Amino acid sequence: MSDESHEPSKRLFFALDCAPAQRRAIAQWRSALQLRTGRPVPAENFHLTLLFLGSVDVAQIADVCSAAGKVRVPGEPLRVELDRLDAWRRAGALVLASEQAPPALLRLVYALEQAMLPFGFEETSKEFRPHLTLMRDYRAPVPESTTPPEFFLHADHFALFESHKGRYRTLAQWPLIR
Ligand code: ATP
Ligand code: MG
Repeated sequence: MSDESHEPSKRLFFALDCAPAQRRAIAQWRSALQLRTGRPVPAENFHLTLLFLGSVDVAQIADVCSAAGKVRVPGEPLRVELDRLDAWRRAGALVLASEQAPPALLRLVYALEQAMLPFGFEETSKEFRPHLTLMRDYRAPVPESTTPPEFFLHADHFALFESHKGRYRTLAQWPLIR
């Protein structure tokens, strides 16, 4: 694409973002792992994906936002425990995951999936597994960690992000309590 300002589509996903202090704490914990393989995700990109939309026509974005804005669940702030370090072989990702996904988070993801159905985006066949990616192109066993992960991601809103050249931009966000 020669002129970026005239892109007909954007790569979009819904996610919970990660507060700056928490990003720093997680990045610090990651450095203590002294990983020698993989590509570290920049701390400013730490997030928990709710629903990946992929390529969306720019002309559709306003309607996508309006549909997302009608989501009224879970109606409470979210607290997601990230207490498990996992290496996902097929995805080549080292992730912080949840032993147990909170039901309120699952309700939000389900509601977003339903809200996006009319747009006919390709549905993700994968089961939703809440996680925060620490490394990409990671193809090694789970590293030994001296301090077990014990992070809590607190969210009082969810957001629509654009992914462009390895950077994310918040396009819109909605409070969980309205
Ligand atoms: P890059 O691909 O440039 O290395 P990235 O993976 O962070 O960086 P994207 O591929 O745009 O950027 O992904 C944005 C978010 O959407 C990430 O959380 C990613 O895991 C998720 N995602 C990307 N592709 C898919 C997919 N096909 N299905 C489900 N989630 C996806
Ligand atoms: Mg990717």
